[in-house]
Amino acid sequence: MKKQVVVIGLGRFGSSVCRELYALGHEVLAIDQDVEKVDAVNDFSSQASVANATDEKDLKSLGVRNFQHAIIAIGDDLQASVLCTLMVKDLGVEKVWVKARDLQHQKILEKVGADRVIQPENEMGIRVAHHVDSEKIVDYIELSKDFSILELAATKKVINRSLEELSIRANYNCVVLAIKQDEHVNIAPVQEDVVKEGDVLIVMGHREDLKRFEDKGL
Ligand code: ATP
Ligand code: ATP
Ligand code: CA
Repeated sequence: MKKQVVVIGLGRFGSSVCRELYALGHEVLAIDQDVEKVDAVNDFSSQASVANATDEKDLKSLGVRNFQHAIIAIGDDLQASVLCTLMVKDLGVEKVWVKARDLQHQKILEKVGADRVIQPENEMGIRVAHHVDSEKIVDYIELSKDFSILELAATKKVINRSLEELSIRANYNCVVLAIKQDEHVNIAPVQEDVVKEGDVLIVMGHREDLKRFEDKGL
């Protein structure tokens, strides 16, 4: 479904969100106070405008209130980021997601009504650490503090064995959600499915159970 999204702040993070959403077919209004930043996304947004994110008149005249979703990506100017979040929320935008520099910034944004706060450097750092920790981990999605989804490369230990033989749920309390082989994804694996060389298992569970599976089961 096509969404109307406003992206405010077109640094590295904001401009990449803007370009990707536009490429995915969504309507994207891009805003920055810097004309060069605005020009850079002109061909990669539905509309790109120079405006001050902390000026309510600017936000109103651009029709920000009509958008369902806002991404605010102003990292360095804490005051501008907080003020803009408050105003966009006040204008009635349903989902306001905001980039934060650090935990203190995150806490303030949550207090003023941000629906989701993202710390890209921190989150990417954690992700990279998990990749270094285990070469078996292809990718990693954190569902909550304790639960995650891991993409794990099949090892010799599991290749040519069926899910029934492996009993991953019984032994490790983890669920195999899907099995990937290059571009092909088996989204509803059954007990009889056999793990093949080059497969990637997409497994959900408690982080301790996942760790146990990764260490002992693979
Ligand atoms: P990056 O994603 O590159 O790390 P950042 O989080 O470090 O970015 P900044 O570089 O501080 O964030 O700002 C991002 C963008 O927001 C910049 O292009 C800047 O011009 C814009 N910006 C900052 N304050 C305002 C404002 N009050 N109104 C409009 N745009 C603003
Ligand atoms: P962030 O992940 O916070 O966005 P960044 O990519 O913007 O960081 P910098 O802040 O420029 O990168 O640098 C990251 C760290 O690297 C800093 O703590 C800095 O002190 C350190 N650093 C930079 N240059 C050197 C150097 N020549 N030798 C050792 N440490 C360095
Ligand atoms: Ca930055």
